[in-house]
Amino acid sequence: MPELPEVQTLVDDLNDAEVCGAVIKSARVFWHKTIADMEPRAFCHLIAGKQVITIYRRAKYIIFDLTDGWHLLIHLRMSGHLQIASPESPRTKHQHVILELNDLRQLRFTDPRKFGRFFMVSDALPILSRLGPEPLDKQFTAHLLGLQLLPRRRMLKPLLLDQTVIAGLGNIYVDEALWQARLHPHNLGSELNMTQIRSLHRAIRKVLRLGLHNKGTTLGRGQTTFYSLGERQGRNRNHLKVFRRTGLPCMRCRTPIERLIVGQRSTHICPRCQTV
Ligand SMILES: [Zn+2]
Repeated sequence: MPELPEVQTLVDDLNDAEVCGAVIKSARVFWHKTIADMEPRAFCHLIAGKQVITIYRRAKYIIFDLTDGWHLLIHLRMSGHLQIASPESPRTKHQHVILELNDLRQLRFTDPRKFGRFFMVSDALPILSRLGPEPLDKQFTAHLLGLQLLPRRRMLKPLLLDQTVIAGLGNIYVDEALWQARLHPHNLGSELNMTQIRSLHRAIRKVLRLGLHNKGTTLGRGQTTFYSLGERQGRNRNHLKVFRRTGLPCMRCRTPIERLIVGQRSTHICPRCQTV
């Protein structure tokens, strides 16, 4: 599933491709559930003629600010991604939404698993105000992380995946951050001391920055694999320390990495570096 570095990479690509300024001439929807809370016909009618003003990210949402006060929020979920295509190229079977731009390009939403969603809203606050702080913002201090974790008597793995606690993290970067901070995913948020919180704060920012620097993590060739706008693969897979390295030696202590299930999510740890 695309996480903060992957979504930000797509947003950067969309900006580099100068999608801002383009007018969406028309839209076609081939899988009705991709459009959340609205009939596809209403969505197509509403978005036609709107100009893209800005494109940015909040948590795992890609946000298009459009003219007339509308916003298109895209959540990629498991396998969604965006591509720029020419109108002549045939639609592939997993392309569920096509936005026709006035510059003879199309923005296509591909989503083999079909969990991705488009939210067309005049007020984005009901969706965005529920989200926790952005971990790469200047305001995200160790103190703020402590305020988010200490009141919660929950295990760190599900806690850090909870988008209302901290925005943008998913399975890959939570495992990587916990390994960096030498914290076990079973540890409770409420039982961390300030040294551990500071270490986790540093670790979260470090693994996200590394992911961003490497333009995201692309895992294998499966349907949930991440590709950037130009179908480029992210390079961060080669820099992962624990995620999907089961049985391989820990890069700190050579102990084989173990896989366990925490809160129904596949989790990877070094059993020696990360103790409860
Ligand atoms: Zn280790």
